[in-house]
Amino acid sequence: MRHVFLLLLAAAGLAIWALHSGRLTVPPDWNPWAPLEIAAEPNWLTRHKLARLSDDPAMCSAVLSASTLAHANVPDNDAGDGCGWQAAVRVSDARFAPAFTLTCPATVSLAMWDRHAVQPAARRHFGQGVASIEHLGSYACRNVRGAGGEGERRSQHAMANAFDVAGFRLADGRRIRVLTDWNGGGVEAAFLREVHGGACRFFQGTLGPDYNAAHRDHFHLDRGAFRMCR
Ligand SMILES: [Zn+2]
Repeated sequence: MRHVFLLLLAAAGLAIWALHSGRLTVPPDWNPWAPLEIAAEPNWLTRHKLARLSDDPAMCSAVLSASTLAHANVPDNDAGDGCGWQAAVRVSDARFAPAFTLTCPATVSLAMWDRHAVQPAARRHFGQGVASIEHLGSYACRNVRGAGGEGERRSQHAMANAFDVAGFRLADGRRIRVLTDWNGGGVEAAFLREVHGGACRFFQGTLGPDYNAAHRDHFHLDRGAFRMCR
């Protein structure tokens, strides 16, 4: 029994060494050391690869550069008082107008959510894609908002690490809004609930109207330290 265990351990060690050193090649999707590809179908390694981008600004920048998202790197900004950003980009893509500043990891999550959750859900529910995502911005030097107003903890928005989505405009111009359609019960509500759930696959924090009244009109999506899907 002990020999079998040691043999398995040795085999696993050898496989890891071979993968890491490049002696063994597997498709990038299935190689934990290969950078994330936004266009690749998500799998069980996706969360690991997304998490790694937070510690590796150069890799994150390379991942975004390989995507079709219109953006530019911006210098780090220490605004003091717990505000400002690091490793952020300016997203100028027409599908997310107006332009905004967001951390690179959160931008990668946003691009993945759009491609692998929002667009497929729109095609399934409405027979067409989403032409633009309507938002309430990303950076704001403020605290977490609760039912009783401003809390005492800095919001992920204070670090440009969060993005608020108010709705979606379909290819034919039709609008789906969180405020009016979340509780509507129709196909719009089904779509919104599906993309809300989809955001939990790519972001750390996903908060919507069911969380509290402060989120009745938008989805809050962030790459903070806490995993929340409410
Ligand atoms: Zn928010």
